[in-house]
Amino acid sequence: MQIVKMLNLERQYASLRPEIDAAIGQVLARQNFILGDEVATLEQEIAMYCRTGYGVGVASGTDALLLSLKAAGVGPGDEVIVPAFTFVATADTVSLLGATPVFADIDPASYTMDVTTLEALVTPATKAIIAVHLYGQAADIFPIATLAKKYGLALLGDTAQALGATYAGEPVCSYGDFGCLSFFPSKNLGAYGDGGMIVTASAEVASSLKMLRAHGSRKKYRSETLGWNSRLDEIQAAILRVKLPYLDQWNRARREHAVRYSDALGQLDEVVLPIVAPRCSHVFHQYTIRVPERDRVQAALKELGVESAVHYPIPLHLQPMYRSLGYQQGSLPEAEKAAREVLSLPIYPDLEESEVNRVVRAVKQALLSTSARSRVALSGVA
Ligand SMILES: *Cc1c(COP(=O)(O)O)cnc(C)c1O
Repeated sequence: MQIVKMLNLERQYASLRPEIDAAIGQVLARQNFILGDEVATLEQEIAMYCRTGYGVGVASGTDALLLSLKAAGVGPGDEVIVPAFTFVATADTVSLLGATPVFADIDPASYTMDVTTLEALVTPATKAIIAVHLYGQAADIFPIATLAKKYGLALLGDTAQALGATYAGEPVCSYGDFGCLSFFPSKNLGAYGDGGMIVTASAEVASSLKMLRAHGSRKKYRSETLGWNSRLDEIQAAILRVKLPYLDQWNRARREHAVRYSDALGQLDEVVLPIVAPRCSHVFHQYTIRVPERDRVQAALKELGVESAVHYPIPLHLQPMYRSLGYQQGSLPEAEKAAREVLSLPIYPDLEESEVNRVVRAVKQALLSTSARSRVALSGVA
């Protein structure tokens, strides 16, 4: 049986191989691997793509968040508001700096921060907000930015999943004080290893970020502040420069697959489809539905040769490492419900239409078999 995989990157490499291999070959020929022309040029290209001033290449999306928080002055005793339903890096970077994440619940339709709950979370210790543009769709940035301004908070955008998405016609990464990007291989713009970048409109912010990624030094061997070694390397930058011109076309292909999924799955009563929120264009890093008895549906799909994934099974406020923060089951009900119900289906630019159709048929079959099983279970009880 041919498996429909969550992600198949071999197809993309096959179509770009001559360009990618040549780009890597040029870096090898130059033997300059750290902060050379490729990184500097990619920083300009990404900043331009994001319609903002500056880009600062770093070692990962996690480091993009960490260095941004540090540049925003976040430290021990501070609080940072983050959504409870996201990848753990959005919060663990806050904790690594000695600050405390304060978790916000999500809007159940868009899976991004419920903006109506945010103001109640602000305290005198609040220093920043991280808006996560989850699954490839922007959080509702205008009200979040208004709140940040009202209380003098730094605004970070976790744009790891949403490069190419827009909000009110502007690239999502251009909003806020820091736009944090990841080039993890599975992201919409993926490197062949780890990588990340921060984009910002401010020359001053860009300059402190460049200092933080180099042991706190502007001048070699003179450290002004505590920093890290966190750099995007030349080989990854060269690969990303080959890929960037294709990003919009790849995101279009993702959208087309999403439309096809939604047309077909929208006919099933049990399936809750992803929405495209007002003012947003979605780049479908993930195509995520909700289904009843999610784990059984996922197991049935696997038997039918279709991979799927759960992003994310444990909301952050219930992670074992955050037990000491005192959240309980029921503290943030929408995040918890999403964690029980969401299921991401295969979506990537090179997915074939026949595979989308196979996934749709498998979802229908999986739902039939799980609901039949629960009817049997119910009649057994009666
Ligand atoms: C991938 C991701 C990150 C972390 O990026 P890395 O490059 O893997 O460190 C952070 N936040 C979100 C929402 C992500 O999806």
